[in-house]
Amino acid sequence: MKQNYKLILDRILEEIQPFLEKGEVANYIPALANVDKKQFAMSVHTVDGFSYSVGDYEKPFSIQSISKVFTLTLAMKKFGDEIWKRVKREPSGTAFNSLVQLEYENGIPRNPFINAGAIVITDSIFSNVKDTTNNIVQFVRNLVNNQNIQINFETSKSEQEYGHRNMALASLMKSFNNLNNNINQVLEVYFNQCSIEMNCKNLSKSFLYLANKGVNPLTNEQVITIRQTKRINALMLTCGLYDSVGDFAYRVGLPGKSGVGGGIVAVIPGTLSVAVWSPGLNKSGNSFAGTKALELFTTYGCNSIF
Ligand code: GLN
Repeated sequence: MKQNYKLILDRILEEIQPFLEKGEVANYIPALANVDKKQFAMSVHTVDGFSYSVGDYEKPFSIQSISKVFTLTLAMKKFGDEIWKRVKREPSGTAFNSLVQLEYENGIPRNPFINAGAIVITDSIFSNVKDTTNNIVQFVRNLVNNQNIQINFETSKSEQEYGHRNMALASLMKSFNNLNNNINQVLEVYFNQCSIEMNCKNLSKSFLYLANKGVNPLTNEQVITIRQTKRINALMLTCGLYDSVGDFAYRVGLPGKSGVGGGIVAVIPGTLSVAVWSPGLNKSGNSFAGTKALELFTTYGCNSIF
């Protein structure tokens, strides 16, 4: 059975090649605009310790919105259901950085995975945790059991310089009293968390707790409760891929989270975590080849073709 994952990933690496031409890199963040589109990596880790990776799986990339899962986890640990007073739990049906809905819904973001929702979550952590940026990175390091995970501050600065839309989202929420701290300070932490870099192998490891009832199998630490794990997976399933979430569920069928750096991570609860990376994005900002690779992964896995 475990041997099948090797065969499946090797086959995907071969079949994915024509798809690496497609999609566009996230050029609205200048630091990400120069990344070579043709790169691809995929890595699987089972909860019982098997792992296999293909492609550029040692190459670090910007995790971007995938960081929103880590901050949501931290906020749920600290504040429990309190967070749902400031952010909802419904798919938005709009782009991840859209302003429109936020205005007519009185500054309460649809979910914690669109930018507005993630900024609220970061704001709540900022109110409660000193040295917020370092705390978030340390949390991620512990998940991967690797102290070398770093932030790329050049990416963060680049995003800060061109982050007019995120400024607008934060300002709008401030006007509705849904942002408690200084806008620039909260956004600085938000851009820092998005600029955490990981390779595909570590990214896959970092989601193992969501495949293992909240327990990190690498350290045996109970990161969150079973109930919270179920909730985060449900949110990923319904909101993890923005306005392509329905298409992703149809094609892949797993809870997952994407980022404009080209990474996507998904989990099969009770079994495994699987990460892909390829920087070319579709129109919703999700990795084009990454989505295809995950579609092949669940198709081949279900069909037991090997
Ligand atoms: N840092 C990015 C932004 O705020 C994150 C977006 C994403 O990965 N979808 O625009």
